[in-house]
Amino acid sequence: MQGRMNDDVDQFEWNGSHPALDLVNTLDERPSDTPIERLPTYRDLVQFAVLAGLIERRTAGRLLRLGARSGSQIAKRVRKLREHLHDILAAANSGRRARQSDLDALSAAIQAAHAAQLLVASASPGLASRRWSPSPSAEIPLHACALAIERLLVEEERNRIRKCEASDCDAYYLDTSKGRRRQWCSMTGCGNREKQRRRRSGGRSLTRLNRLE
Ligand SMILES: [Zn+2]
Repeated sequence: MQGRMNDDVDQFEWNGSHPALDLVNTLDERPSDTPIERLPTYRDLVQFAVLAGLIERRTAGRLLRLGARSGSQIAKRVRKLREHLHDILAAANSGRRARQSDLDALSAAIQAAHAAQLLVASASPGLASRRWSPSPSAEIPLHACALAIERLLVEEERNRIRKCEASDCDAYYLDTSKGRRRQWCSMTGCGNREKQRRRRSGGRSLTRLNRLE
């Protein structure tokens, strides 16, 4: 059936511990000469938004059935937002202030996202909740990504937003560990690889690494 997503295929990495960081990580293998684009099409974007918990599955079905011609433009706009966020994170990671032009681009998208929502009466826990309007609009996944980015930048502690320490990895994650000592985007991937590398090179840091496991 057209408009249906392939539920079996999940090409995304989910190590970010926050949907906005999972979004940043959809440009896979950034430091390499040939990064892998995980959001090439609108369909990929919709699938990402569902799996990241940003939109409901039934909304996704309606969006795909719309078959919007603007889909590829919308996916492109999300990729641009993603790169603005990446530049802000990279700046913070090297101790620089975020560029105002990156923040301005995100502000505009976040404002549009808020403007696309309505309050409707709700039973609980609040008196009202937010709903997308008008529904369905092909831009919903774009708006949902913008709001996730806003939550990351405004609500999360900056020191918890970290870049993977593996030299060949540019993935970001929110460190939600108790001791705030998470070093890798994934222990099974980068963590193990880096441990082996350090072991080969004499591994002075191994004691610390082993303690973390
Ligand atoms: Zn990594």
